[in-house]
Amino acid sequence: MRTDVLGVGFDDLTMDEAVGRAAVLLESGTPAYIVTPNPEIVWLCRDDPELKEIVGRAALVLPDGIGVVYGAKILGRPLKGKIAGIDFAEKLLERMAGTGKSVYLLGAKPGVASMAAKKLQNKYPGLVVAGTADGYFKDDGPVIEKINASKPDLLLVCLGAPKQERWMAANATRLNVRLMAGLGGALDVFAGTAERAPESWQRLHLEWLHRLKKEPWRWRRMIKLPLFIFAVAGQRLKGN
Ligand code: UDP
Repeated sequence: MRTDVLGVGFDDLTMDEAVGRAAVLLESGTPAYIVTPNPEIVWLCRDDPELKEIVGRAALVLPDGIGVVYGAKILGRPLKGKIAGIDFAEKLLERMAGTGKSVYLLGAKPGVASMAAKKLQNKYPGLVVAGTADGYFKDDGPVIEKINASKPDLLLVCLGAPKQERWMAANATRLNVRLMAGLGGALDVFAGTAERAPESWQRLHLEWLHRLKKEPWRWRRMIKLPLFIFAVAGQRLKGN
């Protein structure tokens, strides 16, 4: 049973449990995908039944962002905690290193994914990177062929939300991978082209504020956060 937050069901897992579930999915034969919705995506799902259905079909739905965790708490069904997509990916890659399982990095501007691959391999010796490709392609066909030829176990799809969620759902059956995860700007952070909030800010759950400071244009997207909290409070008052 998933925990419902404004119509989106979240898996209530600790980080270790989530990584363990992903490791099991990496052994299975069916192409599965993982999504990590933040309040912005939950908000989009309210007006987009197709996106909501795509999110619902994911093998794992992890709460990325403290907003979702607060939302669940306000609704009286607390989640075990926030699972930032980027932390989840690092833990999974760390676990994969040395096992022979491979990852393909798809997304971000040209050059970023290959730089991310180098940095990740330095950090996690033994990590097999099957290949990399940037996220600014016109046709899916050649990219999918390239990915399939390298037969990765895991595909990180970093095209930004909700583009990456739609892409994973649309192409799942054409891709010869075991598992995919949609991870937004993770490759920029792995490559070092974008900076994550300092740890003290992360501990205070202020990553969003750091993001806003670095990319002020984000206010248009972030305005959905207070709307999300109001809607959660409204749902609570209605008693569900
Ligand atoms: N991106 C991409 N292809 C696109 C649009 C975006 O590869 O057509 C990349 C972009 O370069 C960045 C990431 O997707 O690396 C989006 O990062 P962001 O942090 O904005 O993710 P979001 O918050 O949207 O999940």
